[in-house]
Amino acid sequence: MASAALSPEILAKYEPVIGLEVHVQLLTATKAFCGCANRFGAEPNTNVCPVCLGLPGALPVLNEKAVEFATLASLALNCEVRPRSIFARKNYFYPDLPKGYQISQYDKPLAEHGWIEVPTAGGATKRIGITRLHMEEDAGKSIHEGFADSATRSYIDLNRCGTPLVEIVSEPDIRTPDEAFEYLTRLKEILLYTRVSDCNMEEGSLRCDANVSVRLRGAGKFGAKAEVKNVNSFRFVRAALEYEIERQVETIESGGRVMQETRLWDANEGRTYPMRSKEHAHDYRYFPEPDLPPLILSPEFLEKSRRTLPELPEARRTRMVAEYDLSAQDAHTLTASREFADRFESAAKTARNPRRVANILLSEVGGRLKALGLDQEQSPVSMAGLVMASDLLDEGKLSSKQMKQLFDTCFEKGEDFRAVYEREKPQQITDTGAIEGLIDEAIAANPKQVEQYRAGKKSLAGFFVGQVMRASKGQANPALLNELVTKKLEG
Ligand SMILES: [Zn+2]
Repeated sequence: MASAALSPEILAKYEPVIGLEVHVQLLTATKAFCGCANRFGAEPNTNVCPVCLGLPGALPVLNEKAVEFATLASLALNCEVRPRSIFARKNYFYPDLPKGYQISQYDKPLAEHGWIEVPTAGGATKRIGITRLHMEEDAGKSIHEGFADSATRSYIDLNRCGTPLVEIVSEPDIRTPDEAFEYLTRLKEILLYTRVSDCNMEEGSLRCDANVSVRLRGAGKFGAKAEVKNVNSFRFVRAALEYEIERQVETIESGGRVMQETRLWDANEGRTYPMRSKEHAHDYRYFPEPDLPPLILSPEFLEKSRRTLPELPEARRTRMVAEYDLSAQDAHTLTASREFADRFESAAKTARNPRRVANILLSEVGGRLKALGLDQEQSPVSMAGLVMASDLLDEGKLSSKQMKQLFDTCFEKGEDFRAVYEREKPQQITDTGAIEGLIDEAIAANPKQVEQYRAGKKSLAGFFVGQVMRASKGQANPALLNELVTKKLEG
């Protein structure tokens, strides 16, 4: 269907409208309503009990930790948390749902009216609304492949039944596949910072469905939407949306009508295809869960949650840009995960010059890691090693050239900075006379620069420091050198 036939002019006539539904598994030790372990990868059907198997007479008991995590996520996403929310039964039949209903929340969800800010193409930020965040339980898993008789049978693993989830529904505020990608990236980052989920998409801890429609620009009414399911990476969400927008525009342009339907993304073919269009007629017959009382959150509980909220990624970046004199891009690198940012900051605090630690980490270590295709976790240089390098540089016990050579050795041999430094103890020329001799040579060889310096271009001191440093093969004591260069030039 969709092809390269659509010109940018035709595409530009239309405005995509995108909303995202994200399911996130909470990182609790046990399931939402029973004491079974909440763990991925266990032997099938071993983490089950009468409650999560839906056996007659079994009663659910709400996991307090799940409520804590869901509340924390709500607050981190700027939602208003409802002091009284209601669990509801969502009835449907499917083999992986032995109870015949899912415990969810319906018209009184845990939280509403949140937002996430995303960067836009123009460099501004845009606020994407979050309609609601509600708690629910996950279903089991049907396994359709991997067995000798998979052609004729499906298998069932109920370990996932009753795993606590939050579903986060965005407003239809998203207008481009890139905005959708950014929204998901920010959302995942926030959830990781609050430590309520591991957000592991391969293991299904974070799953995304995308609703997308197109309308003529300026039109008030939304077009018929397709819901794209089964998308297991943010890049695929972006690709699926790009495909779907073109498909819908092409359908309309060729005189057709976009059907309201559920579609699946096929990553291998790079396209979506329709699935069970009848299922939209589903009537879930929601009603309040009779086995669970309303969920009442006291002001004290909410206050405690608020206090538990960590500094969130965007706020942390803003602070770090100022505190460490970083570019926005560098702040992004340092805050990629809360663990990494924490490790960096607690180390940097112990250094003489925290900004220098940031600088060395980004330029020296970051540059070498990038060249080798490694990530930060694989760096041979520890944060303590970085602080040591930074302090030596700061105290003038190491020139930057020597530091670079030591880092080269660290990366060649896979050793930390301290080990390499202590073995190689780079020579330093601290003999005033020897350094003065080198400065005299540099001054004699560069009369024009001397003249300019004396005429007021003081920044040329750096030029002479560089000349002498090179002549000394990086071994001149930097502090002494700086001092003597200024003295000589002034004298
Ligand atoms: Zn159970």
